[in-house]
Amino acid sequence: SQPVIAIIGRPNVGKSTLFNRLTGTRSALVSDMPGLTRDRREEQADIGGHPVRLVDTAGLEEAKRGSIAERMRQQSEAALMAADLVLFVIDSRDGITPDDKSFARVVRNSGRPVILVANKCEGRAGEDGFYAAFELGFGEPVAISAEHGEGLGDLMVEMLSAL
Ligand code: GDP
Ligand code: MG
Repeated sequence: SQPVIAIIGRPNVGKSTLFNRLTGTRSALVSDMPGLTRDRREEQADIGGHPVRLVDTAGLEEAKRGSIAERMRQQSEAALMAADLVLFVIDSRDGITPDDKSFARVVRNSGRPVILVANKCEGRAGEDGFYAAFELGFGEPVAISAEHGEGLGDLMVEMLSAL
């Protein structure tokens, strides 16, 4: 069966925008209001000729109660565990936040292969965040702008070699 790729990260980093880019759809709701995305969305995507199932883990944004780690455990462990590959997304303009670190810990504990994606890297606004992201321990980030469609070729190359 097709590999499952889960897009993980704290609210508002651009997961749904990336999901829509990679699937060529607008099926995931993009919003600058964290929490608006309600369902976990799954679509087929074509990564360099390879069909995959792409999962937008919007459920992370739903819970209002509990710590980030708790929310991750309760709502996203299943998505994470079902994933053959994780795209862990940060907002490069925000740098690395405590929530990013919590999410990174849970992702690391899942033992799944991870590609670190530094989103919102258009222009030079994301440069500091891009370098800060090395501290998450997932190696070199792939710099992209999901909104502007930059860096997606590089990301697909990384995805192909991780599958
Ligand atoms: P999610 O909560 O992680 O799913 O994030 P969304 O995809 O809903 O995006 C959150 C906000 O970030 C929206 O206002 C998007 O338009 C914006 N956004 C997403 N990707 C980029 C990007 O590459 N650059 C910039 N500047 N904004 C982006
Ligand atoms: Mg979303």
